[in-house]
Amino acid sequence: HAKATRLPGYCFYSCEMNESAAAKLRMQNLLKNAIEKGELVLYYQPKISASTCRITGAEALVRWNSAELGMVSPVEFIPLAEETGLIVAIGEWVLKTACAQLEQWNRVFTGHFSMAVNLSPRQFADSALIPKIIDIARTHEISISQLELEITEGALMHDPVTATEALHKIRAVGAKVAVDDFGTGYSSLGYLKRLPIDALKVDRSFVSGLPDDGSDRAIVSAVIAIAQELNLRVTVEGVETIEQLNKLRKLGCDELQGYLFSRPVPAEEFTALLRPHGNVAILAPDANRTKH
Ligand code: C2E
Ligand code: MG
Ligand code: MG
Ligand code: MG
Repeated sequence: HAKATRLPGYCFYSCEMNESAAAKLRMQNLLKNAIEKGELVLYYQPKISASTCRITGAEALVRWNSAELGMVSPVEFIPLAEETGLIVAIGEWVLKTACAQLEQWNRVFTGHFSMAVNLSPRQFADSALIPKIIDIARTHEISISQLELEITEGALMHDPVTATEALHKIRAVGAKVAVDDFGTGYSSLGYLKRLPIDALKVDRSFVSGLPDDGSDRAIVSAVIAIAQELNLRVTVEGVETIEQLNKLRKLGCDELQGYLFSRPVPAEEFTALLRPHGNVAILAPDANRTKH
């Protein structure tokens, strides 16, 4: 707005606006064909048990490898897809692809292995979601109980009553639910108590200050205390250093995710992460990764 008051700046400002609006429109148009062109890819990031350092599962994270734009981050294109409604098709592709991959890993690993998939608000509101999940689980050799759907705190709290109904349906078919980016979405603790959920994922913004920052420590330990009281699993995302790992273990969190263990990687690389240990999927944090 400040720019708009300067005369030459005004034109510059509005041209800049048009440029970004045009870029957005172009991206939206290209995105429409991304699925059929085979440009979407899933990367997988391991989830680690804090007590055993075993890999308990993976989170599927979508990327768009666009011929015209190069690699596009989900942070850029998921909001666009949400706006246009394309997210429903993209989300279905993600679910199918992640379940097909899970079927592969089920043949290789024994023991429980979970697959986490992010759900956008629109997918979450889609009444066809449950039939789709049932159908996908039927066509692949997986158990629905291996699926964990991650929904952001903001999406749940936008309309907690409707969200609660949708969550009940998801859990009635056996899928698990995790509240993603927990701590950023102004949850009412009253609703948290009543929401049918399985896990909280502490947002990585609270982890970056560990172990030294007193407020981050207080927030993370309070979330862990609440979760234990409500019988919820706590996953902490964004673990990057050994010091954070040690602190989080002391605080009693259940599951960890972060660059300290592995970045999100393509499926083949994920399989290779597990293979050296046979069926026992253990990932030792790399001591060289303590300092950045
Ligand atoms: P999210 O679900 O909270 O995923 C965690 C993000 O943090 C991922 O970014 C991951 O790569 C990144 N991350 C993991 N460990 C670390 C770490 O130690 N340090 C740092 N700095 N970052 C870490 P990514 O893959 O770019 O995804 C961003 C967001 O895009 C996701 O946040 C999720 O909200 C959304 N997203 C990704 N895939 C999908 C999808 O298939 N469907 C929907 N609806 N949203 C998706
Ligand atoms: Mg997530
Ligand atoms: Mg998150
Ligand atoms: Mg996030």
